[in-house]
Order: sequence, then structure tokens, then C-alpha cells
Amino acid sequence: MELRELGSTGMRVSPLGLGTVKFGRNEQVKYPAAFEIPDDAAVTAILELARELGINLLDTAPAYGTAQQRLGRLLPGPREDWVIVSKVGEIFAQGRSSFDFSHAHTLATVEQSLRDLQTDYLDCVLIHSSGDDLQILEKEGVLDALKELKDRGLIRAHGMSSKTVAGGLRVVEEMDVVMATANLEYNDELPVLQTAAAARKGVLIKKGLMSGHIQGLEGVRASMRHVFSLPGVSSMIVGTIDPDHLRQNVAIMDEMT
Ligand code: NAP
Repeated sequence: MELRELGSTGMRVSPLGLGTVKFGRNEQVKYPAAFEIPDDAAVTAILELARELGINLLDTAPAYGTAQQRLGRLLPGPREDWVIVSKVGEIFAQGRSSFDFSHAHTLATVEQSLRDLQTDYLDCVLIHSSGDDLQILEKEGVLDALKELKDRGLIRAHGMSSKTVAGGLRVVEEMDVVMATANLEYNDELPVLQTAAAARKGVLIKKGLMSGHIQGLEGVRASMRHVFSLPGVSSMIVGTIDPDHLRQNVAIMDEMT
């Protein structure tokens, strides 16, 4: 897979990124089937396979249960070979989510993520939106805190996993990377992608396979073709803990390019 520019960040990412929700959390998720969290050997195997297949981009979050600690322990190869995207704002504990977008919580979360991931920098940190994108960006301390962390060199880029068009457009103005939803059934955030493409900002797509609610291999192929027909896409983040699915997804990517 040929790497793509992540907007103007100077980072280059594989067009297929690996989502890691399923590495550490199986409660309050929207997948079609219940699943067991994979053991260390299975997580190591999927990370090694991803690396072998040319994937360098990992999407994770403190809200993904134990995913970050596991990546910290199990990530193969040199740290610099990976582009790690983490998040701030959502807290998942005792089976439920809560949110804190304060300045202090943002700093404390990034410091904890650095410890969990056993690294001294994060490539990108996204605000994990609760839905009130504009309110979070305008009224909370998180945006300033991320700018400070970038100035201090602890994070290389910042952005938001946004949920609204107005929020996504503001992210494109103020930040380096936007993570937006797009798939065969939902394209409301297209204006965000268009604006990001024109502004040379990084665009990560989440839920491109409708969180697994797709029909067979043809559904995966149609979904991926659709996502990569959209403007500005740097990478599509697909969550999987199944090595065969990972191989299929990379094969489809390769046949498209
Ligand atoms: P997704 O990538 O659209 O779908 C993932 C689901 O698709 C998994 O259940 C996976 O199951 C299945 N899948 C993957 N490849 C497949 C294939 N070839 N054939 C059949 N099924 C396949 O949805 P998502 O996990 O909701 O989102 C992707 C990533 O985006 C997440 O892991 C996360 O990193 C990020 N995300 C972020 C936010 C946010 O607010 N920031 C929200 C949602 C997601 P198997 O494990 O069986 O392959």
C-alpha cells in the first residue's frame, strides 16, 4: 500500500488504518455480533500481520478499555514505524461512557496515554466528541490544551473525531486532522471532506464498513470503493480482530490502486 500524506502534518499514513476498539472493549459497542476480547497472542499476531501488510496507522483511545495498555506492551517493531492516533474526552468505566473536555483532564489523559502506550510522543490526538462538537471547541479547555501539548512536543498533531458538519468545518479551520463518518448509507459529512481536501487537512474515515453491518465480501468491496471515491481521504480506519478480514481488506485496497 502506498502511503498518503496526512494533510499538512508531514506524516505519511497507510490508506487503511487499524482500529483497536475490539482489542480492549466489548461492552457498549455497536457491532453486529458479540465477541471475546482477543488474548495477547492474537493481538500480537494481528499487529504483526498489519505491519507485514504495510499498515502503519493505528487508531486507539483511552475509552477503548485496555486497548492502549495492550498496544504499549505488544506493539511490534520500532515505535517510529507506527503512526499512533489516540483521543481525549471520553472516559469509559464500569460499562458506561462519560465525558470531560476540560484543560486539566486533557493534559492528564495525554500523560496517562503516553504511559499506557509506553512512548514519549503521540502522533495525533483527537477530541473524542460526545456530539456537541461546537460547544466542546468553543466553551471547553480541550482545544487550548492540545495546542499546548503540540507546542511542548508531546503530540505531533491534533484533531477531532467530530459528529456534526458545523463541528467538522470548525475542526478543519483550527486543527490538523478531522475524523469523520462516511459510508454507503451516510454521507452527510461530505462538506467537511471537501473543505478539508481544499485546506490540505488530514482526513480519517471511521465506520466506513458501517461498524460491520455490511453484506459479505462484496459489501466490503463496495464500501471501500465508496470511501475512496470521496475527496481528501487520507486513511480509512477499519476495526478488525480477524486476520482473514485484515488480509481481505488490504487485498481490496491493493486491487483499487
Ligand atoms: P468499521 O471499521 O466500520 O467496522 C468494524 C467491523 O467490521 C468489525 O466488527 C469487523 O469485524 C468488521 N469487519 C472488518 N473487516 C471485515 C471484512 N473484511 N468482512 C466482514 N467484516 C469485517 O467500524 P468501527 O469499528 O465502528 O470503526 C472503525 C474504527 O474507527 C474503530 O476501531 C475505531 O478505531 C474508530 N472509531 C472511532 C470512533 C470515534 O468516535 N472516534 C467511533 C467509532 C469508531 P471483525 O473483527 O470480525 O473483522
